[in-house]
Amino acid sequence: VAKHGKYETRPFDCWQKYKEAINKHWQDVWEAKDKGKPLIVRSGEFAHSLTAGLPDSADFQEAPYSQTMAVNREMATELFEDLENMGYRDICSAMGLSLASVLTGRGPHGKLPRPDFVLTVQVCDVEGKIGQIMAEHYDIPHFFVEVPKPVRGAKGQQHHKYLASQMHDAIEWMEKVSSKEWDDEKFIDGVRNEWQTYALWSKITELNKSIPAPLSQKHMGIFFLPAVTAGDRKWVVDLFKMGYDELKYRVDKGIAAVANERCRLLHEGLVPSYFLRMFKIAEQYGVVFLGSEVYFGLGGAFSASLDGSWVASETPEERGIELRTRDDAVEALADLYLHHLPLLDNLVLATRVDDMLRRIEDWHADGVVMHFDRGCHGLPSGMPDCKMALDRHGIRNMIYEASNSDPRHFSEAQVVDCLQAYFEALDLTRLTE
Ligand code: SF4
Repeated sequence: VAKHGKYETRPFDCWQKYKEAINKHWQDVWEAKDKGKPLIVRSGEFAHSLTAGLPDSADFQEAPYSQTMAVNREMATELFEDLENMGYRDICSAMGLSLASVLTGRGPHGKLPRPDFVLTVQVCDVEGKIGQIMAEHYDIPHFFVEVPKPVRGAKGQQHHKYLASQMHDAIEWMEKVSSKEWDDEKFIDGVRNEWQTYALWSKITELNKSIPAPLSQKHMGIFFLPAVTAGDRKWVVDLFKMGYDELKYRVDKGIAAVANERCRLLHEGLVPSYFLRMFKIAEQYGVVFLGSEVYFGLGGAFSASLDGSWVASETPEERGIELRTRDDAVEALADLYLHHLPLLDNLVLATRVDDMLRRIEDWHADGVVMHFDRGCHGLPSGMPDCKMALDRHGIRNMIYEASNSDPRHFSEAQVVDCLQAYFEALDLTRLTE
């Protein structure tokens, strides 16, 4: 394990702005109906700009909303028990917590006002199913867009056409069910913004290749959230530009996320939202968590190669592609989700091991902690293969079982013991209390 000494650290100037952006998003959602705006359930937090042509609409996304609830163990536990009493078991815990909130009317913002329709852009199968339950609960229409997931290297025009044609159908359908006129200018702006937000997030994650890392995974849950809730809005693009500039400044000045950084780890899988204490324990040992497949890839646009490398993508404009018409915007949006979200490639597993090995090399990581998440049916798949590959390559790793949002599947004492033993196996001693 490399020893890198002690670095300057300081709070983020833009931190408060990110928190305000997240609060603003949920406020917009809860106030939409009172203000006469369409309220849309987005089952699956993808392709936000697909609704941007309905002016002033607000999108409610289940998984990000769960994240705000799962920090409160007591509330999360009660909601999961309510959900099970209603007959829903073994469901994705990130989506399930929001479903429980909708069905019971309980949550930090209270009852969700009745939405106008559900739009699923499905990457993981769960998203379509939860969207269906939501639509049936409110008795509202539901449209479903399936994002094809061919193996990397086997993506063809047929996949692109399939996704783009569904997006065109979705636009016509939304216009019909909302009785609102579709605004192509706003749609094009939304796609442009979404691309910019995603490109900026990928550039931000690349800054974490620097030693010391300017950003801890502890902060990433907040830093990427506006991208996956409202990435198609101009104010989110501006926020991410501000975030990028501040982090670049920190890299240039050697300002660290963890003052005693001496070991760099990836945390693969979602961090349990109710166990952010993990980062404090890591910092006591001089460990910084750099991010992972899902923290880089959700809200980030990358060009991925067959050797597993991810490089921040250029926006269509940066590549000389102008967006002038609805067709152009649909093409650009389909391109983003088909060719620039390698996170989605890895749901079919073929590239997952190579991507992880390359990520370790490119982000200068010393090891990997993997969360075998009982609350997720997508991200833990392939982790046993990753573990075997890490062992073969002599890369120290640790696994633990929990659930990203359901605290009932978590033994804090056991996971803390494992973490401390793992850090000690990496020859780290505790530096601070
Ligand atoms: S990938 Fe996991 S967390 Fe995301 S929707 Fe699927 S099951 Fe839920």
